[in-house]
Amino acid sequence: ENVEVQIEDQEFQLEPDNELRFEVENKNETVVLELKTGLAEIFGTEMVKGKSYTFYYGAKIAVFTWQGCMLKLRGKKGISYISKETPMMFYLNCHASLEQLRVKSEKENLRGPVTMVVGPTDVGKSTLCRILLNYSARMNSLGRRPIYVDLDPGQGHIAVPGTIGAVMIERPAEVEESFSQVAPLVYQFGRTNMSNNSTLYNTLVSRMAEVIHQRMDENPRINSSGIIINTCGWVKGKGYQHLTHIALAFEVDVILVLDQERLYNELVRDMPEFVKVVLLPKSGGVVVRNNKFRSDGREARIREYFYGTPKNVLHPHTCEIRYTDIKVYRIGAPHIPNTLMPLDMQKTDLEKKLEPVTPGPNMLHHVLALSFATSIEEDVVRTSVAGFVCVTNVDQSRQMLTLLSPQPKPLPETIYLLSEVQFMDSNS
Ligand code: ATP
Repeated sequence: ENVEVQIEDQEFQLEPDNELRFEVENKNETVVLELKTGLAEIFGTEMVKGKSYTFYYGAKIAVFTWQGCMLKLRGKKGISYISKETPMMFYLNCHASLEQLRVKSEKENLRGPVTMVVGPTDVGKSTLCRILLNYSARMNSLGRRPIYVDLDPGQGHIAVPGTIGAVMIERPAEVEESFSQVAPLVYQFGRTNMSNNSTLYNTLVSRMAEVIHQRMDENPRINSSGIIINTCGWVKGKGYQHLTHIALAFEVDVILVLDQERLYNELVRDMPEFVKVVLLPKSGGVVVRNNKFRSDGREARIREYFYGTPKNVLHPHTCEIRYTDIKVYRIGAPHIPNTLMPLDMQKTDLEKKLEPVTPGPNMLHHVLALSFATSIEEDVVRTSVAGFVCVTNVDQSRQMLTLLSPQPKPLPETIYLLSEVQFMDSNS
């Protein structure tokens, strides 16, 4: 039973416009990919010939070639296959249109294209954003600096799940990694499910749009490069209202709709004339992820925040802090029945209310965000956050919390914002 099966290298010859698809399906499995001849790219990032790329559990990869290439896979146990049907030509055309708009904006000193990618779950929204950002970053002679905005708190691509974030893209992402991050702009939503607090979500989206527009006004290069916005897969009812709110707040010019005609038609109906709504096919390679896979993905994202990746290992600190030395708040009060609601209060006020939380066992395993605000006199809800810690132990008798933190010591005056999101740190 325990005999290691020797897996032989597999070689794949790809014709132009084909892609090789594979997944790493098992924990502890690693797959190594190499480009032998020709040219190839992974979600818009060019591969370097002869370099080994290593992929770990959960990776779902497509290696695309415009020109044709030869690839080698080592360690792949399950299925891997070549597809001749991909939507890459459509995606490249989108990039070309956006590029035309950027050139025009540059000449006329106007804001570049603000693009929103929408569609139901598992249609490749994040992947399309990545491809478009990589394509613009690859043309380094043009010096494009688009802003990537991720408004899906369920994944938290930019910071951690439970947040929305934005980051400026200067260079293509490394194949095995997410985009490198210099000073991301992050807001704490505190939950992964948007349905419980639309007021807070819309407030944060509006605030983020305001701050980004301001930064663009100050920097012509960023301004003409525009924005690419990733959204969440909730597109019906209130979810649709979130999308229209985002479009309004960010003053979106282009909406790329993946795979859903109904959503496309709704947006054509509801958006002002000048917004260009485009329907795009999804890739047959996009893998449908179940809830288990999604929650694994969330956990992996938080782990990566503290511990880094195999290529870029981080060493977080553990520190103890007295209950009395930490100020923790929660944004959004729990729902109370209408009859108990104070007369001068609206439901929407409650959803944005800053409430103090007493430290205790209820905080165990929870993620806390460190606000840039230092006093509750400030507009804490609409202030961005600097980073995160996780409560790894609660000692009631000594009234102490143990925190996992990227920094050695917690700052005394910090305001911490409690998240519903939890992380079990198996390393401590
Ligand atoms: P969500 O429902 O979370 O919003 P999404 O629509 O953003 O999902 P992605 O995250 O882009 O979807 O894609 C889902 C998964 O499919 C990812 O793991 C991605 O790497 C993989 N994937 C995307 N395109 C391909 C492809 N052409 N071949 C193989 N795998 C792919």
